[in-house]
Amino acid sequence: TDETDWELTDLDGEFADEDVLAMPTVAVVGRPNVGKSTLVNRILGRREAVVEDIPGVTRDRISYEANWSGRRFLVQDTGGWEPDAKGLQQSVARQAEVAMQTADAILLVVDAVVGATATDEAAVKKLRRSEVPVILVANKVDDQKVESEAAALWSLGLGEPRMVSAAHGRGTGDLLDDVLAVLPETPREGTGGTGPRRVALVGKPNVGKSSLLNKLADDERSVVHDVAGTTVDPVDSLVELGGKIWKFVDTAGLRRKVSHANGTEFYASLRTKAALEASEVAIMLIDASEPITEQDLRVISMVADSGRALVLAFNKWDLVDEDRRLQLDREVDRDLVRVPWAQRVNISAHTGRAVQKLVPAMETALESWDKRISTGRLNTWLKEVVAATPPPMRGGRLPRILFATQATTRPPTFVLFTTGFLEAGYRRFLERRLREEFNFDGSPVRISVRVRE
Ligand code: GDP
Ligand code: GDP
Repeated sequence: TDETDWELTDLDGEFADEDVLAMPTVAVVGRPNVGKSTLVNRILGRREAVVEDIPGVTRDRISYEANWSGRRFLVQDTGGWEPDAKGLQQSVARQAEVAMQTADAILLVVDAVVGATATDEAAVKKLRRSEVPVILVANKVDDQKVESEAAALWSLGLGEPRMVSAAHGRGTGDLLDDVLAVLPETPREGTGGTGPRRVALVGKPNVGKSSLLNKLADDERSVVHDVAGTTVDPVDSLVELGGKIWKFVDTAGLRRKVSHANGTEFYASLRTKAALEASEVAIMLIDASEPITEQDLRVISMVADSGRALVLAFNKWDLVDEDRRLQLDREVDRDLVRVPWAQRVNISAHTGRAVQKLVPAMETALESWDKRISTGRLNTWLKEVVAATPPPMRGGRLPRILFATQATTRPPTFVLFTTGFLEAGYRRFLERRLREEFNFDGSPVRISVRVRE
C-alpha cells in the first residue's frame, strides 16, 4: 500500500474525540462521602466506563461519556479531589467554582441522612451565582423514612432537593430527566469569550508576585476586590489592563501578604496548583537577578503539567547587568526546556519597566491556547510533512500515520491515528513542524497517538 494514502472514510465511526467535543458536560460536585462516585456510576449504568483518556481532560477532572434517553453527554466526576491545605470547605467551594466555569449543568450532591453541613453551605454560596443550571441532589434517600429529612434541604435555597438513592437507583431516572431538561444540546463556548480571562501569578516566594500585582493595579487605578453583590470572588482581583478586565485568580494571599510562617514549600505548591487550576493563562515570575533554582524548576513543571498558556516574566530586571544577562541566557537554555514555546518578558515590578508588555504576551498566548485547526488543513499539512520525512521504521515496519484531528483546544490537543508506535523523537519533530506551520506561541500543544491494530 501507499504509505501516504489518507483514506478518511477508512476510519468511519472512530472519531469519538470529535463527538465528545460536541457533548455538554454535567459536573457532579459535593463534599467527600456524599455519594458522588456512586451517583456517577449509576448515571453511567456501568462501573468501568472510564473515558479518562479524552485528550485535554485533566487528571483532576475526569469525564465519562453517558447516555440517557438517547442523549449523549459527559459526566465530570470531581469525586477524586482531595481537600487541600486550605481545608475542606475551601476545596469544595473551589470545586464548585471550577464547575461553574467548565460545565453546562451542575449537580450538587448532599447527604440527606447527615443533612446540610457548613461545607455544603460553602458550595451553595458559590453556586447561587452560577450562570449554569444547578440541581440539588439529596442522596442516600434509600427509603421513605429519609424523605422528611431530605425535605429539610429546601433550606439550602437551591430549590427542590431531588431525592435519590445512588446506591439503589431510587429516583435516579427522574433526576436524569430533570438534568436533560435543563442541559443545553451543545457545550457552551468556554468562558473566555464573555467573562474576563483568568490569570494566575505564580513563582517561588519573594520573586515579586505581590509587587507585580500592586504595580499593575496601581498603574491602572482600577483593581477591584471583594465587591459585594457582583460575581467577583473575593479571592480574585479584577484588574483593567490594556483596555480589558483581567481576573487574577487566587490573589487573596498576595494582597494580604500572609506571613510565610508555615510557609513550607508544600503549602506554596498547593497554592500554585489551585491558582493554575482556576486560570487560563499563567504569568510565571522568575527572579532574573539570581540564578534559576530548583524551586523555579518545580513551578515550571507544575505550569507545564497544568496545560495552561504561559508567559515567562523575568522580574527584577533593574538589578540585572550585562554579565548577569549573559549568564541568564545560558540558564534559560539549560533549564527552560519544558517550555521553549513560552514568551519571555523582562520586567521590573519595582520600577514598572516593561510590565505593559505582559498584556500582548498574554493575548498571544491565549489566542494560541484557543486556536483550532480544521481537520482539512491539518491533514493537508501532515501529509506533506510525513511524505518529506516519514517516521522511522519500527521492527522492520514503517508506521503509517493515517489521519490527524484536533480533539480539543485549551490547550490545543491533537490525536494522530497510526498503524504503529511513533517514537518520542518523531513526535517532537511533528510538534516542532506543527508549531512552525500554525504558530502556537505561548501555549503548550499536546499530541496523543492512537495505534490501530
Ligand atoms: P464520594 O466521596 O462523594 O464520591 O462518595 P462515594 O460514592 O464514594 O460514597 C460514599 C459512601 O456512601 C460509600 O460507602 C457509598 O456506598 C455510600 N453511598 C453512596 N450512595 C448511597 C446511597 O444512596 N445510600 C446509602 N445508604 N449509601 C450510599
Ligand atoms: P512575592 O513573595 O512573590 O509576592 O514577592 P514580593 O512582591 O513580596 O517581593 C519580594 C521582594 O522583592 C520585596 O522586597 C520586593 O520589594 C522585591 N521586588 C519585587 N520586584 C522587584 C523588582 O522588580 N526589582 C527589585 N529590585 N526588587 C523587587
